[in-house]
Amino acid sequence: MTEAVETTLRGPEAYSLARRAVEAMEAAQVWPTPLNFELWLQYLGEPDGPLGREIQRMLSAGEPFTEAVAEMLAAEYLPRARLTEEIRDAGRVLDRELSSVSAAISRAHKAQSDYGRTLQGAAGSLESADGAPQLRAIVSDLSDATHRIQRDNEDLERKLEVSTREIARLSEHLEQVRRDSMTDALTNLANRKAFDEQLESACETALTEGARLSLAVLDIDHFKRFNDTWGHQTGDQVLRYVASVLGKAATGSRVAARYGGEEFAMIFPRESLPDVEAALEGIRKEIGSRALRRRSTNDDLGAVTVSIGFAHRRGGESASSLLGRADAALYASKRSGRNRVTCADWLDDAA
Ligand code: C2E
Repeated sequence: MTEAVETTLRGPEAYSLARRAVEAMEAAQVWPTPLNFELWLQYLGEPDGPLGREIQRMLSAGEPFTEAVAEMLAAEYLPRARLTEEIRDAGRVLDRELSSVSAAISRAHKAQSDYGRTLQGAAGSLESADGAPQLRAIVSDLSDATHRIQRDNEDLERKLEVSTREIARLSEHLEQVRRDSMTDALTNLANRKAFDEQLESACETALTEGARLSLAVLDIDHFKRFNDTWGHQTGDQVLRYVASVLGKAATGSRVAARYGGEEFAMIFPRESLPDVEAALEGIRKEIGSRALRRRSTNDDLGAVTVSIGFAHRRGGESASSLLGRADAALYASKRSGRNRVTCADWLDDAA
């Protein structure tokens, strides 16, 4: 479930959304299983999102909504479900590798004990050995036992090598899954979850180092109107365009993220207020400077503009307070005509 829908489910619209989901499932003759319920909440919470569009397409094409289809949609569109499935798979592979390594170690342990017993037996036989033929037989037994233990050791080594490779592959895959779960699929910027974590950690670092920290929030002006006029696909491209400008500006330790629908955020660690302001002015101007074209028809879309608010962290200030002040500055930018940058400190000075 996306964060926007998660938020709705904890707000005033929650019960009405849940009721609508049940009614819509009944109308479409879909069983209200927990998974279907989750899919339908996501679909009605964001009818224009990728899952919403896919379900609408299926319903209007009269395609059956089986459990297998529901599983597939969940794996594709519900990020948490996908993550859980990946983690379950990784757990299974890890279990398999650990049991195979532990079986190989038990075998090696038994082989070592057998070898020890063979050596002891040989020592006893040597004392009572009588003549060359008996000695030859003892040495030949010892040589056989030594070959066996060598083979077992080589076997164990091979097994451990395979398992080490498999576990390294798994850890790389899990790292990729972790990165995906922190990335916004449309824009490739950090998602809200990643951003919240990075902001918390940037605040902690700023506190321990006594360093500067600024936070900016950016919102595309009149995005809804734009979406309604040109459609969601073009709207998505505009989001990608704005994200590409932010991504290019996020050099060094700066972080750029998609914070919500058409809202973005940036963290600026260790930079002075004039430097942050200059960077944000540059971003604002660059975004507004491009005449965009609709890719399918080549229609002139004009330019998009963004409103920006930012706040410079005060000593000991929490992440949520910093975010609140940056948000207030963003709304001041919107109120005073959009397409501008406002710093929270200027509002405080004016007050
Ligand atoms: P994208 O369509 O995947 O394009 C990725 C990059 O390929 C663009 O990065 C740009 O460097 C290059 N590119 C693609 N198509 C063209 C083109 O027709 N002309 C030129 N000169 N370069 C092109 P960029 O510019 O940072 O844009 C990032 C994303 O923003 C694009 O991803 C697209 O989704 C969106 N975008 C940017 N400009 C426009 C536009 O004029 N119209 C639409 N519909 N989307 C745009």
